[in-house]
Amino acid sequence: MMLKGKPVAEKILKEVKEGVEKLGFAPGLAIVRVGEDPASKVYVGSKIRRAAEAGIKGEEHYLPETATEDDLLELVHKLNIDSSVHGFIVQLPLPAHINAEKVLESIYPEKDVDGLHPQNLGKLVAGAPVFIPATPMGVMELLSYYNVEIMGKNAVVVGRSNMVGKPMGALLLNANATVEICHSRTRDLAEHTKRAEILVVAVGKAKLITEDMVREGAAVIDVGINRVEGKLVGDVDFEKVKEKARVSPVPGGVGLLTVACLMKNVLKAAEKGKS
Ligand code: NDP
Repeated sequence: MMLKGKPVAEKILKEVKEGVEKLGFAPGLAIVRVGEDPASKVYVGSKIRRAAEAGIKGEEHYLPETATEDDLLELVHKLNIDSSVHGFIVQLPLPAHINAEKVLESIYPEKDVDGLHPQNLGKLVAGAPVFIPATPMGVMELLSYYNVEIMGKNAVVVGRSNMVGKPMGALLLNANATVEICHSRTRDLAEHTKRAEILVVAVGKAKLITEDMVREGAAVIDVGINRVEGKLVGDVDFEKVKEKARVSPVPGGVGLLTVACLMKNVLKAAEKGKS
């Protein structure tokens, strides 16, 4: 069975649209893009289009590859104090000469709709989240939509980035799963993944997870995005794994939810800003 993202994303975007209508004004979302990363260009375009569909005013702020860290910090400061911007994100990755950590820390936590400011990540780990990073939030929405029970289950997350793996582990733990987080130094990855009733993979390596690494009947959420011979694929050997487990497809899975959950965070920021 496939855990498709489309119906879940549509449901979330519909709820966001209704929330925006209740607000009575269009929330402002700013997206900062620096340099020429081709994937970032595509992602930002799709975020702005989805924002418009949900009644959110999305605006791109572009800086060239040659922009300095100070140029970017100055733009972040402007957005921090701009009252028409309820939330904003800095699209990652940034060019190598810019310290992403420093930039993320300079965003006001109440406008940090990507949930990557240490204060927001800390609140998530403490079990009292405000803004949850959109990709792991999307995974939780997917699990909920398809009635995958989490409490008491063995959950394994592969990948430990601040953007996906770590917040994913925290969310599953908060939902009372027993959580393991695997990474590049994990010995015998299969030994861990085979025990998983819920397996979330966020690495960026095509076919990392093969059929023999997956437990029969598991829910497998594939966050990975890889380009292989011009085609987008995830981290899971989808065709084979789908015979024994429920799997989210790539494309058509978590990617759609990431965008929808970002809009959910923008609505939340606008609601908070109003009160
Ligand atoms: P990072 O590169 O930041 O993290 C990758 C993680 O995978 C690291 O923790 C790394 O371990 C781990 N890893 C690398 N190789 C192995 C291995 N052989 N076995 C086990 N773990 C391994 O990536 P992100 O978390 O940012 O993204 C992960 C993937 O998800 C990418 O493909 C990205 O494109 C995709 N993505 C998709 C989104 C969506 O909307 N669908 C949104 C965000 C990301 P270590 O820490 O030890 O280096």
